[in-house]
Amino acid sequence: MSTLTLEPKVEPIENDSKDTLLEIKNLKKFFPVKKGLLQFGKEQTFVQAVNDVSFSILKGETYGLVGESGCGKSTTGRTLLKLTEPTAGEAIYNRNDIFKLSGQELRKVRQDIQMVFQDPYSSLNPRKRIGKTLEEPLIIHNIGDAKERTEIVMEVLSKVGLQLEHYYRYPHEFSGGQRQRIGLARALIVNPKILIMDEPVSALDVSIQSQILNLLKTLQSDLSLSYLFISHDMSVVRHISDRIGVMYLGRLVEEAPTDELFANPLHPYTQALLSAVPVPKSGAKRERIILKGELPSPLDPPAGCVFHTRCPFAMDICKTQIPQNKQIENGHRIACHLYNE
Ligand code: SF4
Repeated sequence: MSTLTLEPKVEPIENDSKDTLLEIKNLKKFFPVKKGLLQFGKEQTFVQAVNDVSFSILKGETYGLVGESGCGKSTTGRTLLKLTEPTAGEAIYNRNDIFKLSGQELRKVRQDIQMVFQDPYSSLNPRKRIGKTLEEPLIIHNIGDAKERTEIVMEVLSKVGLQLEHYYRYPHEFSGGQRQRIGLARALIVNPKILIMDEPVSALDVSIQSQILNLLKTLQSDLSLSYLFISHDMSVVRHISDRIGVMYLGRLVEEAPTDELFANPLHPYTQALLSAVPVPKSGAKRERIILKGELPSPLDPPAGCVFHTRCPFAMDICKTQIPQNKQIENGHRIACHLYNE
């Protein structure tokens, strides 16, 4: 496959580690509340969807981002490609801050970093054959002539486990699992380095889920891909991820290698999340921790630790001071006052 070669114009920035492919630093995304929804005379308020989130994606790894619905994980993924503009922070890729790029430079990054959504069907043109839909990114990125583009599409269809005859079919002729394979094919067609996947198997039956997860693993090792895998499902994330970051109300509260996180969850929120996940082999569950109270609104998140209104271990300091993200051991990071010393 041919690729575009564009010289970056923005001043290069050094990454902390040579294995780091994408580094997110202090990302914030606040959405202003529409004027019509504000009470008369009230100051502008914001939905604090993502607040001071930092993490890295390493070469060839899968980083799982988990949390309840509305915790900011999907917004984080979309912001990284500027599908929604960030409020603050940096996303360093190839020594450039993605958030400062525009035009051709941003298009080049969007070729290298592709998104896969939960339901690719809604973005497929029902009147277009799949082969033609898959060719569109190649045309946008000016890759190949008509004959080469057809060959590239055929090759990618085969990589994602579809048949060559599927090139000529329409979206409604595919099952849910096949549509997700099409979503993957569309992302892979421009030869990316990173896939950001937002709940990519959540809409699928369990048996189809495992087929797609296995396909993702094969593609990762064949094509040296890195994944940001966003999901609310701890079991799925455990199956696919090398490292996991746990989000609560817009903040990253814990991060660790997958086995370490499941063996030794430290943050009280992570402990509660994992208490509902069956233990592999025995199928037994940990002692279930039921969180009290409602998830607070991101419009008016609690002061101090955002989890303090539901945390069984909350102390006075938790109500006023935001806990800093600290490394405890072996890449295990946590933001909680219980681990201050
Ligand atoms: Fe609980 Fe305090 Fe830790 Fe927050 S900082 S999780 S409230 S103990």
